[in-house]
Amino acid sequence: MYETFDELGIQPEILQAVKDMGFEEPTPIQKVSIPVALSGKDLIGQAQTGTGKTAAFGIPVLERIDTTKPGPQAVILSPTRELAIQSAEEINHLAQYLPIHALPIYGGQDIERQFKALRKKPNIIVATPGRLMDHMKRGTIDLSNVQILVLDEGDEMVDMGFIDDIRTILAAIPEERQTMFFSATMPGPIRELAETFLKDPEVVKIKAATV
Ligand code: ADP
Ligand code: MG
Repeated sequence: MYETFDELGIQPEILQAVKDMGFEEPTPIQKVSIPVALSGKDLIGQAQTGTGKTAAFGIPVLERIDTTKPGPQAVILSPTRELAIQSAEEINHLAQYLPIHALPIYGGQDIERQFKALRKKPNIIVATPGRLMDHMKRGTIDLSNVQILVLDEGDEMVDMGFIDDIRTILAAIPEERQTMFFSATMPGPIRELAETFLKDPEVVKIKAATV
């Protein structure tokens, strides 16, 4: 098991950002998930709220972005506007020394403003399902180069009634990709989605007592 961020083999730019953010050592879900995610494998990560799941997928997503290519290579699905904003902010903090930008896309925000932001070709999109589908239907987002898809807070997605939207999005993004599901709990509908869309996933489950 890797005990420090240095041992995880992440690039110096991210190590510096992690230090700036005051993260002294990886949390249990980060220790186990980061090496698996870096290998390109599909992953189910389950750990309590507040245990650092955002960086558990955010760091490997940043490592896997090819900065010579424009446009979204990773899509992170978030259940709420607040979470999309917060996750994009954390990823942009982690990316502060890299030429990588994460854009939050959510309902309720002026769509013209989003068209403009999307034309700047952000590397990572952090989106709520409804607004992402809206852009997909309008053809205002190019997902043809997406290689990583993260479903964040899967249990909240179920509570919000987003399962059908998520299924549509998962089916529309190129199949040659890495898919990761993160959640505090794994309700039935999320397990079913995982069975359909994840390829031989590694399951990382951190018990509350060890956190
Ligand atoms: P979760 O998604 O599991 O609920 P978050 O990713 O939102 O948790 O993280 C919760 C808080 O912990 C955030 O403020 C985040 O910046 C912080 N955090 C994440 N990883 C670490 C770490 N390795 N050390 C210290 N704080 C961390
Ligand atoms: Mg979270």
